[in-house]
Amino acid sequence: MSIWNIKEINTKREILDKNIEVDTLIIGAGMTGMNVAYMLRDNKQVCVVDANIVGHGVTLNSTAKINYFQGRIYTKIEKSINKISAIKYLKAEKEAIEILINIIKEEKIDCDLKKVESYVFANIKSEIEPLKKEIKFLIDNGIDIVNKKLPNKITSYNSYSVKDTYIFNPIKYLQGIYNILIEHNISIYENTKITKIEKINNYYMCYSSKYKIKAKKVVVATSYPYFIKPLFLPFKSTLEKSYIIVSKVNKDQNFTCISSSNPTYSCRFYSDKNNIYQISLSESHNTSVSQNDKYHFNRVKEIFKLDEKDIIMKYSNTDIITADNIPYIGKIDENMYISTGYNTWGMTNSVIGAKIITDMINNNENEYTDLFNPNRINKSNIIKFPLILFSSIKSYVGPKINKNKFWYKNIKFKTENGKCLAIYKDKNGVEHVIYNKCPHMGCSLIFNEEEKTWDCPCHSSRFDIDGRCIKGPSNCDITYKK
Ligand SMILES: Cc1cc2nc3c(=O)[nH]c(=O)nc-3n(C[C@H](O)[C@H](O)[C@H](O)COP(=O)(O)OP(=O)(O)OC[C@H]3O[C@@H](n4cnc5c(N)ncnc54)[C@H](O)[C@@H]3O)c2cc1C
Repeated sequence: MSIWNIKEINTKREILDKNIEVDTLIIGAGMTGMNVAYMLRDNKQVCVVDANIVGHGVTLNSTAKINYFQGRIYTKIEKSINKISAIKYLKAEKEAIEILINIIKEEKIDCDLKKVESYVFANIKSEIEPLKKEIKFLIDNGIDIVNKKLPNKITSYNSYSVKDTYIFNPIKYLQGIYNILIEHNISIYENTKITKIEKINNYYMCYSSKYKIKAKKVVVATSYPYFIKPLFLPFKSTLEKSYIIVSKVNKDQNFTCISSSNPTYSCRFYSDKNNIYQISLSESHNTSVSQNDKYHFNRVKEIFKLDEKDIIMKYSNTDIITADNIPYIGKIDENMYISTGYNTWGMTNSVIGAKIITDMINNNENEYTDLFNPNRINKSNIIKFPLILFSSIKSYVGPKINKNKFWYKNIKFKTENGKCLAIYKDKNGVEHVIYNKCPHMGCSLIFNEEEKTWDCPCHSSRFDIDGRCIKGPSNCDITYKK
């Protein structure tokens, strides 16, 4: 479920039905994959595959703010790496916004693009001083910021705003990009999951369930990749889950806001032909910490003072948080590229990722290659490694040793042939049975009662009530076979 109506995606739903050979294979058709494909549209033999349909990953549940005023990210980067990197990241984000807006305008993509004022605010007193430091950094680097009262009901101790930021509908944007790619004869295969990549001599053999794609270059645009080597993402990132409530409001407002501390409070507005909506997000937390979805949705309701009668949908979404707050973009093998780890700022970072990767493929210089290098090791990676490891162990061990918590309230367990089965009985009395082990790294799954999904606390794979994988990194189902 999402405010961005996936039914609006009008694609051919073409499935890979033969073995093919291409120059560049892009795996994943979210913001990243589609932006890479767009920037490579004049290259020869580019092909996109997606396990689901275009836009059906993290992008579908994004709040889709196109923003460089990202909480306190710049002072965090200054601390985790250095000031030069923070300045460069700011430049990259500003450039990404310019590129994205130019694409939308030049290609006349109808995606409800709107220029808005964006606020960052201190929602607790202890945030006032750290936020001031962030503002100083931005002012010192030429950003026009005003100290201005937040225009809504959320508790705020201090707030600042910038005027050159945007919001849009990411699914309508991807539809526009899809249409352009089809005009350029780029093949886009949906419902085509890549389950194995083998390097053979100077090419990659990529396997889907029945067919193979032989590619000279591979771009991994899957958000969390199913493979561990060569990126080793589980050892240099954590997962952050947030809760979103969409409610009807009477008045459209031209602003977005986000708090500077965790858990993040954030909101924006959106209107379609019939209604005006407020998209409110909060309760962001590391997936190893808590999974009481009902509690978190209630908290969002309280924070934004939402009336139950106005609420039209609730959903959660998870993004990758890197150790040093910079995404991982670039080469991970001789001719294999990745762009991921967006720290919940994927609308801009997918654009910068696409630009870096296309420049690499086309042998062009790019000034951001070093900053985003996915193989970098810095003090932050080293310092945070034990914490990341601890959080992974907690996610792995927690649900295995404690089956009685609220997340298994209506679940029965059974062991069959040494495998743990979990059984959920729905309100009509129908039993849904799954194998309770994530195929990615073996973590036990947690039942998300609110959305009726099985969620992996380790790396955020998701499965529907009958065990069909709806989100990676897992690339297999956990459906029970008698
Ligand atoms: C709650 C929340 C709010 C957010 N709000 C914002 C915001 O306001 N502004 C902002 O800039 N960013 C925001 N983000 C971040 C942003 O939404 C994401 O970073 C971005 O959408 C990621 O895009 P992607 O294309 O990399 O990944 P995805 O959209 O997940 O796309 C990956 C695609 O790869 C496919 N795939 C996966 N595995 C395989 C496989 N093995 N074979 C084939 N295909 C595969 C999937 O089906 C999917 O379609 C938010 C994130 C969250 C969690």
